[in-house]
Amino acid sequence: MKNVTTSEGCLKCKGCCYFHDDHDAELAPFFTKDEAMRVSLEGLRPVTPELWQGKVVPSKNPSFKYACHFLNEERYRCGIYENRPIDCVTWPFIISIVDNRYYLCSANSDWCPAVDSRNIHEENLVLSVLDYLVRAGYFSEIRLGKRQAWPMEESYIIIREISEYIR
Ligand code: SF4
Ligand code: SF4
Repeated sequence: MKNVTTSEGCLKCKGCCYFHDDHDAELAPFFTKDEAMRVSLEGLRPVTPELWQGKVVPSKNPSFKYACHFLNEERYRCGIYENRPIDCVTWPFIISIVDNRYYLCSANSDWCPAVDSRNIHEENLVLSVLDYLVRAGYFSEIRLGKRQAWPMEESYIIIREISEYIR
């Protein structure tokens, strides 16, 4: 998948894996059963028998209320980087659902400053994200009820409808 962000940009921002408030914390990543089995269940809470969500813990960073359980705040490193779930791999892209239709969206630049510096509608970039999601089995998992798309939020930038990938 093509990168939207650069490590330098992310190290300047350090916004990922942190949550400002309780609503933000509801957006902690989902883990399918397969993804959950690769990490410590201590860091997860069950959502359905097939799906878990990352737990958050009080953050040591005064700018945020919570951090992901798996974040090493001292080093600003994901403690399960190699096994992080698809939701984390594809950020700032988000698959969202509204009125039973699915959309490829992106976080806006308030959430991810990297979105400002890259045309997230660029065809090659969008196709690389969709191709990654197809290869990772994301859409089949949604079809089979093993994964959930995110309820649409006003702050999401809609890139295109992708309902045909799920049906
Ligand atoms: S919010 Fe965007 S720029 Fe900031 S750390 Fe995350 S991916 Fe990088
Ligand atoms: S699992 Fe890793 S990449 Fe995902 S939110 Fe937690 S610390 Fe960040």
